[in-house]
Amino acid sequence: MPKDWTVTQAYFWASKILSSNDIPAPYAEAEYLLAHALKCDKKDIILNHDRVLINNEVGLFKELIDRRLKREPSQQIIGEEEFWGLPFKVTKDVLIPRPETQLLVKEALKEAKNLSPEVKIVDLCTGSGCIAVSMAVELPESKVYAIDISDKALAVAGENAKKHGVDKRITFLEGNLLNPMKPLGLNGKIDLFLSNPPYVSKKMMEELQPEIELYEPMLAVSGGEDGFDYYRQIIPEAAAYLKPGGYLILEIGYGQRDGTISLIEQEKVYKGIEVKKDFAEIDRVVKAQRT
Ligand code: GLN
Repeated sequence: MPKDWTVTQAYFWASKILSSNDIPAPYAEAEYLLAHALKCDKKDIILNHDRVLINNEVGLFKELIDRRLKREPSQQIIGEEEFWGLPFKVTKDVLIPRPETQLLVKEALKEAKNLSPEVKIVDLCTGSGCIAVSMAVELPESKVYAIDISDKALAVAGENAKKHGVDKRITFLEGNLLNPMKPLGLNGKIDLFLSNPPYVSKKMMEELQPEIELYEPMLAVSGGEDGFDYYRQIIPEAAAYLKPGGYLILEIGYGQRDGTISLIEQEKVYKGIEVKKDFAEIDRVVKAQRT
């Protein structure tokens, strides 16, 4: 490594080494991690391209690149990911919020417009809390119940709620699926029942990118043999908590549209099933109204 590295040299060194190790989007990743090491914005990399790095900046940047070469996701290296325009803390205990999950938030907000401002929301399998916190931020009179089986995930979600000033309106519940809702007496009282549950099938689990396989919590990813384990439990159980006219809104994985629709139809208590596609034209969100 040369002495007296400039910002540009550091950037090109990293892009090259990431690229030759088959890391996807090497230039964007180099820029993202360099900005983090230099504690600046991406635009400052351009503005200060000929600045010479100081010693500990070189060491730190090299450490970040080493971690990325071992396939650790950048969001975990940095400890943050943006979702719905808000920064969310992420650790190895939570699924990194995905951009397509914002479609679920968008659909939920669309329905919330026609509901009372004091809307009651469930976010089952909250993980980082990205869905629960975004909803609470957007709907200042809402009350959210955010559930997860992992206490470590709930701790991260709680921090995210605090960071965005909505912790007083989110009740965090630890337990398996809807079990922790049972004592709360909320049957028939929920307006929006949201969930992005683990949905990757056993076959697809064998083809995960190393970033996911090595670093993301499998508990948040694996949906059993055919990927439908959680939908099979959530779809009937959610019906009991939804208010008549309330909505069940679920994220689904590639190819899960028909299976999810048939589970919803089987229940005979939902109507108006709609499916929304994400930017990659993949069916991503399924919505149904409680009769
Ligand atoms: N609700 C979180 C998200 O959408 C976590 C989902 C999960 O753990 N399966 O990112």
